[in-house]
Amino acid sequence: MDTTRKPAWLRARLPSGPGYAAVRGLVDQHKLHTVCQSAQCPNLGECWSRGTATVMILGNICTRSCNFCAVQTGRPTELDLGEPARVADAVATMGLRHCVITSVARDELADGGAGVWAATIRAIRNRNPATAIEVLVPDFKGRTADIDTVLDARPDIFNHNVETVERLQKPVRVQARYDRSRGVLRHAKGRGFTVKTGIMLGLGERREEIERTLRDLAGDGMDILTIGQYLQPTKQHLPVDRWVTPEEFRHWREFGLSVGFGVVESGPLVRSSYHADEQSLRYTGEGHLNTRNALASA
Ligand code: SF4
Repeated sequence: MDTTRKPAWLRARLPSGPGYAAVRGLVDQHKLHTVCQSAQCPNLGECWSRGTATVMILGNICTRSCNFCAVQTGRPTELDLGEPARVADAVATMGLRHCVITSVARDELADGGAGVWAATIRAIRNRNPATAIEVLVPDFKGRTADIDTVLDARPDIFNHNVETVERLQKPVRVQARYDRSRGVLRHAKGRGFTVKTGIMLGLGERREEIERTLRDLAGDGMDILTIGQYLQPTKQHLPVDRWVTPEEFRHWREFGLSVGFGVVESGPLVRSSYHADEQSLRYTGEGHLNTRNALASA
């Protein structure tokens, strides 16, 4: 397969319009980082034009070096303690009913950044009580105490991506592990949270491995699944193994629903936070998850 040229179905919308300009101004004004920019997301144009962005907390330098990810790797600078309030302000200004927050991995911190995560969730909730908060977190090296710090702040959706099938974890995620990520997710599910995960296709995974992964994750009780096409951010990153067709993505959506997921978002341009507000609407049928997870065990 020729993977040097992108197929037509991967052509994304270019950034433009007043919505895009407003988000751009807000991100600059509040000195925020977004995963949309740092990970070179192909949906930036569409999402920002709709007035949404995925804020990345804890800086923009990651202590890990996943071979699929465009976020800069290195030694992060010190903690920015004003960040939670600025993020809360930005969410208020964007007027979001559903916000998605993510972070780099901060393995050099004793709590992996869990304290800042909790402060950010609480700051957003105080300032925006009607906004559903979705968190896309690192694995905290599987430390239950740190995961609990995040969960105790009561996010509405707890998201952690396994990214790929078990066999490809090492080449793709380097410092992460399939069983550890599943443990993180199961822990959140065990506490009654709405739990979401995601994988990329086009990294060399085989059909039976995708099936097994979806069965594993559904068996763990995951509620929402995203499946998207891997895109190589630079020549230093893993090459694309194949372009997965829209038909195949539809197949995996049906397969995921058949093995027990409540919502499966599957398509070439799908990313964790792509249309996250609509996924949560489909999952709850009400589009507002605060009540549900306010009841989750503390
Ligand atoms: S941990 Fe996350 S941000 Fe860091 S390199 Fe891996 S995918 Fe990118």
